[in-house]
Amino acid sequence: MPKAQETVLEIDLKALKHNFEHLKSKLKDTTKFLAVVKAFGYGSDAVEIARYLQDLGADYFAVAYANEGVTLREAGVTAPIIVLHPLPANFKTIIENCLEPNLYNAKVLNEFIETASTENQTDYPVHIKFNTGLNRLGFWENDVDYIISKLKSTDSIKVTSIFSHLAASEDLNEKNFTQNQIETFKSIAENFIKAIGYQPMQHTCNTSGILNYPEAHLDMVRSGIGLYGFGNSEIENQNLRPIASLKTIISQIHRIEKGESVGYNRAFKSKGGLKTATLPIGHADGIGRQYGNGKGFVMINGSQAPIIGNVCMDMIMVNVTDIDCKEGDEVIIFDAHTTAEHLAETTGTISYELITGISQRVKRIFLR
Ligand SMILES: *Cc1c(COP(=O)(O)O)cnc(C)c1O
Repeated sequence: MPKAQETVLEIDLKALKHNFEHLKSKLKDTTKFLAVVKAFGYGSDAVEIARYLQDLGADYFAVAYANEGVTLREAGVTAPIIVLHPLPANFKTIIENCLEPNLYNAKVLNEFIETASTENQTDYPVHIKFNTGLNRLGFWENDVDYIISKLKSTDSIKVTSIFSHLAASEDLNEKNFTQNQIETFKSIAENFIKAIGYQPMQHTCNTSGILNYPEAHLDMVRSGIGLYGFGNSEIENQNLRPIASLKTIISQIHRIEKGESVGYNRAFKSKGGLKTATLPIGHADGIGRQYGNGKGFVMINGSQAPIIGNVCMDMIMVNVTDIDCKEGDEVIIFDAHTTAEHLAETTGTISYELITGISQRVKRIFLR
């Protein structure tokens, strides 16, 4: 692939295909695959990712908010799309764009029924979420009777699926807790189906759920991070390929004398002679200030160059004293070898946060 000439996020669609196929290979043929493309496809570009996965045969998509779903519809994505966190202000937009809301409490259930009937809908597809321990969004187990009574009082909506979300599927120390969540969900689903008299799909696994709890795949799984190449464990990471590489170049090289400082607030003070490289990427591009002052690093010509001083809005400075490099050379912030997960760990965060934070200013390039 050509060397970077500016800051770019390269997206390797072949790696995406590999990850999709690897995750699919863990499923029964009858289990559907929902691809989670919220937050701009975890930073990669939701439209490109969704179009590509739609062609590969993804059954469903999910976004967090309604406007993310509208973007996909406008780009021609026709597969069903769940809006995981719909808000009443957007119910009309949801219906106009054939998006399928997650109904998670009495307020959204009632208000969505109202909007659907005002818009003359019948059997509008909705998804009912149950809280089984994450304590974030979802009805409680003892809300089933209430939900059923509401559903029986209208023909405006129809439940396409019931689902729950695991709180710690990547953490095998929490296996008992997770198994308990799964059992709770199965029992809720049984009661719900008995009472409603038809059989909505059931789903509860995210990526780590797919990998760690095959008994919980049910009718559909919802994968996000795995598609983008991370399996939340060293073993699982070996079977997946990070799809995004963040690259930039060296804009300028400086020779710094002992006692001089580098960057804002003079945060770095040189104890001896030093060579620095200034790079055209900063906190406005998604490399947060927490990566400054020696925590984070970049790769230049195969060597690690630590970030020195404070991260600026549009630039970082790195120490290249011992690296053979020149202005214009390519710099890797993360790629399939020096992974986003690894860089994220230098500041105690996770791959999810780093990759979803790469800002829209950074040009996306797709390798097909
Ligand atoms: C974000 C999200 C997912 C995807 O989780 P990954 O760990 O990225 O696979 C699945 N389900 C729900 C409800 C989510 O919010």
